[in-house]
Amino acid sequence: MKVAIFSTKSYDRKFFTAANTQHQHQLTFLDPKLDQHTAMLAKDATAVCIFVNDEVHKDTLTALASQGVSLIALRSAGYNNVDIEAAKNLGIKLVRVPAYSSYAVAEHTVGLILTLNRKLHRAYNCVREGNFSLEGLLGFDLHGRTIGIIGTGRIGTVTAKIMTGFGCKVIAYDPYYNPHCEAIGVQYMELAQLFSQSDIITLHCPLTSENYHLINQETIAQMKPHVMLINTSRGALIDTDAMITALKSCQIGALGLDVYEQESALFFEDRSNRILQDDTFARLMTFPNVMITGHQAFFTEDAMQAIAAVTLAQILHHSQ
Ligand code: NAD
Repeated sequence: MKVAIFSTKSYDRKFFTAANTQHQHQLTFLDPKLDQHTAMLAKDATAVCIFVNDEVHKDTLTALASQGVSLIALRSAGYNNVDIEAAKNLGIKLVRVPAYSSYAVAEHTVGLILTLNRKLHRAYNCVREGNFSLEGLLGFDLHGRTIGIIGTGRIGTVTAKIMTGFGCKVIAYDPYYNPHCEAIGVQYMELAQLFSQSDIITLHCPLTSENYHLINQETIAQMKPHVMLINTSRGALIDTDAMITALKSCQIGALGLDVYEQESALFFEDRSNRILQDDTFARLMTFPNVMITGHQAFFTEDAMQAIAAVTLAQILHHSQ
């Protein structure tokens, strides 16, 4: 099948080219994001492959359909960036990678927790500058603390297992109880209870129209003072303005983000020589207790191999 792959970087080319030796699809690697203006780059292709920040609205889908594209393959788990209803009406099938490496994202989540708790990001810089003072580097034992997991699917479950290994009490909210989590002692409860009991809260649910800005002024007020919050899921789960207010008042004690609501204008590019236009993001970066990574949680060799293999297999399956 002819496949136009949008938003590609050197690493996408590497892993998709390697995985395609099994399939022999005709792959065209394209640098731009997919939108209604770049859709024409997919001419001759039957399938397009997109990533998390390709925002695929009705106009883009209409342009793709008029060129004969019948399949969109998301090389991601989340699919909040596609107008699913419009795709259905236009007869365009959607496939995604439901699971690739839950370990990659869960381990990155734990990396953010450890970094923020023990201030490793600050300690690294201090020691390089000959500052061996411990002032400002005080952390806490994870052992015995309560971690609240919102969304106990694949990634949430792995995170729960790792945190259980640290000796944390793991509590969770998910509309569906996961027996694998219950088997390791995870206690399910309502969101309000989770907010009020957790020392650390980590988000592992998909972004939907129901949970947009799940973390907002009202829900932040239900949390323990100085709580640590981690989001490796989707940026729009958090109201960033409310978060900045809560960081200033110390209601939020530490914030670890791998995702950000306005990330599509920032992430995956080297912008180090350009003027940052996003004042909200700039403010976030001024806090010493905020650690931001640029949608990097999935980025391990194992996950990249799995993403490429599953995406190309899905395309083959749907072309038959
Ligand atoms: P999954 O489908 O296995 O699990 C999601 C869980 O969330 C399910 O158990 C579901 O019942 C639950 N859920 C749905 N709505 C909820 C709500 N409103 N409140 C609480 N729980 C809810 O998905 P997964 O593989 O564990 O991935 C979780 C999310 O992580 C994805 O949707 C995606 O947004 C994000 N993700 C991020 C990266 C990254 O690189 N940062 C990579 C992969 C996935």
